[in-house]
Amino acid sequence: MKNINTMLSRSKSKYWLFFHIVFIYIASSFIWWSYLLHKNNRENFNEVISRERTVYGQNGGLMSRFEQSNVYTKLQADFQRTELMLYGEGLVFIGLITLGFWRIRKTFREEIAMTRQQNNFLLSITHELKSPLASLKLTMQTIQKRQLDAEHIKSMADMSMDDIERLELLVENILLASKIESANFSLNRELMDLSTITATIYDKIKIKHKGQLIFINDIEKDIYIYGDRFSFASVIYNLIENAIKYSSSDGEINVTLSGDEHNAFLSVTDTGIGIPVNEKSRIFDRFYRIGTEETRKTKGTGLGLFIVKHVVEMHKGSIQVKNNSPKGSIFEVSIPVGA
Ligand code: ADP
Repeated sequence: MKNINTMLSRSKSKYWLFFHIVFIYIASSFIWWSYLLHKNNRENFNEVISRERTVYGQNGGLMSRFEQSNVYTKLQADFQRTELMLYGEGLVFIGLITLGFWRIRKTFREEIAMTRQQNNFLLSITHELKSPLASLKLTMQTIQKRQLDAEHIKSMADMSMDDIERLELLVENILLASKIESANFSLNRELMDLSTITATIYDKIKIKHKGQLIFINDIEKDIYIYGDRFSFASVIYNLIENAIKYSSSDGEINVTLSGDEHNAFLSVTDTGIGIPVNEKSRIFDRFYRIGTEETRKTKGTGLGLFIVKHVVEMHKGSIQVKNNSPKGSIFEVSIPVGA
């Protein structure tokens, strides 16, 4: 897959060179034509003036006073009008060409970025599928081949459950992301107890990561919203799992849920690596992951926050990402209770 990225860079530079040569060729031809038209106009004007001056003289006029005559004034006005037309049309033409090239260039860049992100997505997804499967296979082989005591088998089963849950989350994210993309996706709205859903997911994740990080919560009871249970669970899962994934092992994860008569407020705070200001709007794009394959330390698909944002917006809510102090991030979701 890295080779595909290298191929993309190569074809990009070839295209880039071709693209710029064509642009320079068109622009210089155009400047040359403009120069010729302008020269032609001036030569015509000079020729007509000298002819009219002779006629003016032959008709008894004083040739030195030709410049003050009506004929000269009219010819000069015509000449200036043609000049103005040439400049005006030239400017419009060059403006349109530049605009056209700028658009092509922008579209091309976006296409390249999207293709690269899709390749990275395939690379990540292959890894994300392969590693829990390999680990599950190893566990099963160990249980098959060795006589293990009950305690040992239980700890292996727990590890396998983690792998299965990781696979489940991955498959759910892929399915949900593709559903969101399809035009006929609609939410399955019902009155749901957001407090219980948040607390259940929080407890489950906390148990899974027990002893690794500090978990704090302040989940108010009896907060109800009118929403899609399955999609919303994915929002909570993704935000808490990200907070853990982008934190060090001594990090602190804080999940709060509160509400007033109009909105429910969910926030997930971590003390992890944080998000640079210029990345804050892009992290919600499909497949987008900060950094490059070489600099990234964590695995992922770049689908989590894309899903979070879409689900929140489909519930007429909003999401914000802020810096935590002294480090880390805060994701704040606000959802209208009756949406
Ligand atoms: P991924 O599968 O890569 O985690 P997401 O869509 O969930 O995909 O997140 C997109 C990117 O946003 C991540 O790759 C990561 O760079 C950044 N990100 C998300 N959550 C956090 C967080 N809590 N702290 C720091 N960076 C984050």
